[in-house]
Amino acid sequence: MLHVQGIEGGYGKESVVKDVSFQVNKGEILGILGPNGSGKSTLLKIISGILPKRSGTIFIDGKDASLYSQKEFARKVAVLPQLHTHAFSHSVRETVDLGRYPHQSGLFSTWSDEDEQAVKEALELTAMTRYKDTAIELLSGGEQQRVFVAQALAQDAPILLLDEPTNHLDIAHQQQLLDTIRKQAQDKGLTVISVFHDINLASMYCDRLLMMNDGRIDSIGVPQDVVKDESVDRVYKARIKTQPHPELPKPQITLLPDVQVQSDSFAVSKNDFTISPQFVTLQIANPLKTLSSAVHNPGLGWYRTFVNRHVDADYNCDDVQAEMARYLEQQGFHSTDTVGMMTAVTTEHAEVEEYKGDFGMVIIAVTAGVGNAVDVSQALAREQRVGTINTWVIVNGILPDEAFIQAMITATEAKVKALQVENIMDPLTSTIATGTSTDSLLVAATQRGENLPYAGPITPLGKLIGHGVYDCTIRAIQTYKRAKGWTN
Ligand code: ADP
Repeated sequence: MLHVQGIEGGYGKESVVKDVSFQVNKGEILGILGPNGSGKSTLLKIISGILPKRSGTIFIDGKDASLYSQKEFARKVAVLPQLHTHAFSHSVRETVDLGRYPHQSGLFSTWSDEDEQAVKEALELTAMTRYKDTAIELLSGGEQQRVFVAQALAQDAPILLLDEPTNHLDIAHQQQLLDTIRKQAQDKGLTVISVFHDINLASMYCDRLLMMNDGRIDSIGVPQDVVKDESVDRVYKARIKTQPHPELPKPQITLLPDVQVQSDSFAVSKNDFTISPQFVTLQIANPLKTLSSAVHNPGLGWYRTFVNRHVDADYNCDDVQAEMARYLEQQGFHSTDTVGMMTAVTTEHAEVEEYKGDFGMVIIAVTAGVGNAVDVSQALAREQRVGTINTWVIVNGILPDEAFIQAMITATEAKVKALQVENIMDPLTSTIATGTSTDSLLVAATQRGENLPYAGPITPLGKLIGHGVYDCTIRAIQTYKRAKGWTN
């Protein structure tokens, strides 16, 4: 355990690190973040004893670190400094061996089995065993970095201080090294303090983060309390947005460049749609931010082509995703830039309409096959048969994520109402249907023009989506009924 209290220190008259206090527990990884020159390395140098502190105390396992002898300290704390270009003249093995120095005793120290084992393990953990006889100067920067990590691990100290350990490493080696350190912290109860350049890596691998700003602690806490839009903006002077990691409960940042990557304003209109017996397509020059439950490229993304493809009612395929991707490429669509849906409905019966409001325009496109409609409230008690209502909501405006979700709710409610008004029944339960069993919904926005923060029916956008989806769905159902020769 390491406890830093009221630390102050630097190089000239002015202190670089000012009044820094924190504690790191056994088995914990603390990441130090902060912009260039904020004092991260200086803080680590003071804790390492490389730079004398002006005031404050460092406690290691409850004892003032200044009371430890140099060798005792080295048995407690291993340090990986920032890699600089040196005139190296050792082999990898010799360099890692040096990590065992604090464990040698007496004038004529002997090399023990324990020393041998620690070096062997450190070489293996850093995947450097096969380079053990290579001269260090012949290795790449990333490989040299791993040698020094191996040296620090061989030291077998309960506290590990690392200054940008992933510097010079490619992403696979960054992952490997940080996985190793994480595992060492867990298995051996190591206490780790590491300076990070990369906020996302720090967030992923550290239990807690300490953000330095101008020599002082700006914030300290779990990653979600430290990596926030406002704090990163304020401390780093960089516009960012945080997003959740896809697999871990850790925030990740994305830079928001000031330079517009895409061209200026543009709008989607009904003219951008094409309807043929094979598909309904929307193709535009600029990508739309899209959230959908499509077959191909579902979820959130940016796309320029949207395809609602006709398939026969008995379409059956083991790998629908792969078949759809192949089909799109065969038809000349670029599959990574295309969202693809399927419908057994005659695509020429699609309803596509523009709805204008003060803020701009939305375009709704619906294909509705309601022969196998389902009352969702009775779905548990019934057999499922496929049927599809595909609904697209295209918005000329800027929507935040929550407005995409609200647009989906509004569109779904409007669809359900249309089925009710058209008296569409679930043929198996003889109750009013609410949809079909494989309906798809897509909301896409230009992210240009007006800011439209909400899309519930209390807002102008929500009103337009509600009306438009209702209107198009009613018309699509009526067309379907006529085509099937239904009487009502
Ligand atoms: P960081 O690691 O956050 O980039 P540093 O701790 O390296 O920041 O540097 C903090 C400040 O201390 C900077 O203004 C830097 O110029 C200064 N500094 C760093 N090393 C030295 C040194 N050896 N001598 C004098 N000033 C230094």
